[in-house]
Amino acid sequence: MKTYVVSGAASGIGAATAALLREQGDRVITVDLRDADVVADLSTAEGRADAVAGVQNLTDVVHGLVPCAGIVGVAGADSAKIVSVNFFGAVALVRGLKPQLAAAGTSSVVLIASNSITGMPNWRASTAELCLTEDEEAARADAADADPLTVYPGTKAGLAWWARREGVTEAWIGQGTRLNSVAPGSIDSPMTEQLLADPEVGPLVAAYPSAINRMGRPEEIAALVAFLLSDASSLMVGAVVYADGGTDAMLHPNAP
Ligand code: NAD
Repeated sequence: MKTYVVSGAASGIGAATAALLREQGDRVITVDLRDADVVADLSTAEGRADAVAGVQNLTDVVHGLVPCAGIVGVAGADSAKIVSVNFFGAVALVRGLKPQLAAAGTSSVVLIASNSITGMPNWRASTAELCLTEDEEAARADAADADPLTVYPGTKAGLAWWARREGVTEAWIGQGTRLNSVAPGSIDSPMTEQLLADPEVGPLVAAYPSAINRMGRPEEIAALVAFLLSDASSLMVGAVVYADGGTDAMLHPNAP
């Protein structure tokens, strides 16, 4: 039996991931604002410290970590908070639980990016760049007055690139921890319901091309996450795996 940590596990993709891992017979420690083993607010440094300490109180060993908690960029959303939750809330869990991931011998981290990185035009590159410096105040200040719709993909690009850069370093792969990310397309979850209800973003999301002509299900992302957590994906390091019903392939047929 392995021990996994999943944030954002009270809803959507995180809930489906926690359920699948438990069905596999593994132990799952959940982190969320509600209905979780560790209730913590990942938007603040204090909340993140509580989350890490809460997990550490429950286990010395973490075989896999899925920082899934995220908030969406709809009209009126707090752009600085999107930066704090989506990027810094995820990276703080990975960094904070590094000793417990090392204690597993081999371990795997699956970050949740988004296919908006390649699917959405003109997103805020400075958000990704500043996230990668890990200077939260600078990243928040830059995003504060920006359109949340353009900030969200910036945080997700930041996560995917962070996993690529860090994933190949001695600090991570040297301790046996693989960092990868998945880039889901539109997934039928409460987050997407919020997006579809937004007068500005809703029509754009509804018009997103998909070769399978339907949204994805949280369980379909959970299955990919479970594979990336498992030893079956042992060759995958720093990968960004799109799971979007063909959206990325349709928009970028010649991309590698
Ligand atoms: P969701 O809204 O159903 O679930 C998000 C979860 O994160 C909730 O349980 C919420 O309570 C938790 N959360 C939010 N803010 C938090 C905070 N400050 N501290 C702790 N927990 C917090 O969303 P979802 O669709 O399941 O999305 C999960 C992840 O997948 C997110 O990172 C999202 O950006 C990403 N994603 C979703 C889609 C999609 O179409 N739904 C597509 C690409 C990527």
